[in-house]
Amino acid sequence: MPTYVVLLGPPGAGKGTQAQIISKTMDLPHISSGDIFRENMKNQTELGRQAKGYMDRGELVPDDLTIAMIRERLSRPDCARGALLDGFPRTPPQAQALDGMLAEFNGRVNAVPYIKVSENVLIERLTGRWTCRAQGHVFHEKFNPPEKPGVCDYDGSELYQRDDDKAETVANRIKVYFAQTMPLIDYYQKAGLLIEVDGAQPIEKVTADLLEALQART
Ligand code: AMP
Repeated sequence: MPTYVVLLGPPGAGKGTQAQIISKTMDLPHISSGDIFRENMKNQTELGRQAKGYMDRGELVPDDLTIAMIRERLSRPDCARGALLDGFPRTPPQAQALDGMLAEFNGRVNAVPYIKVSENVLIERLTGRWTCRAQGHVFHEKFNPPEKPGVCDYDGSELYQRDDDKAETVANRIKVYFAQTMPLIDYYQKAGLLIEVDGAQPIEKVTADLLEALQART
C-alpha cells in the first residue's frame, strides 16, 4: 500500500525545510503545492496565469484549481509508492477531496505531522527567508544561513526573496492560514492522525521528532 504523509504548519514553520529532509529519508516524492504553482507561473502556463493574482495577494487559490492540479501530480508514476504532501490540503474541502482521490489510488492519509510555531516567531522567520531559484531550497539569513550569501548550498543557484515573503503579504498569509487551515488540525485530530511537533526547536531537533513519530506510524 502506498504511504501518504501530510505535513501541516503555518507559513514559516519550517515545513519546506523539513519536507526536503523527510522526503529523502523516507524516499517519498516531496509534493509542494506552492512550488507547483510557482513553477507554473514561471512557465506562464494557463494554471500559472489563473493562480497569480491570488498568490500575489497572499490569498488561497480556489479549491477546484488546486485539487485538479494535485490529482494530476499524484497520479504520475513517481507517486506510486506514495508522497509527502506540503502545502496541500489547506482547507477542509481540499482534505475531503484528498481522501477521495487517495481511495482511488488504494491508499489513505497515514500520518499528519503538525509543526506548531507561535505567530510572532513566524513573522520574523518569513521576512528573513531566501529561496533558491533552481529547486526551491530554503535558507534564512539569521537561523539557517547559506555558506555563501546569495548562493544555494545544494545546487549553486541564486537565492531570491519570494514576492509573497515581503512584510505586508506575510501578515496576510498568516491571517489566511489561521482562518482557513486551522480547521484541518481539528479534522485530522478527530481522524486520529495528527502528530504535534514543537517547531520552535532547532531544525535538527524538529527533524528528529518528526522522523521518530513517522517511523512509529508508517
Ligand atoms: P506556499 O509556498 O505553500 O506558502 O504557497 C504559496 C501560495 O500558493 C499560497 O499563499 C497560495 O496562494 C498558493 N497555494 C499553495 N498551496 C495552496 C493550496 N493547497 N490551496 C490554495 N492555495 C495554495
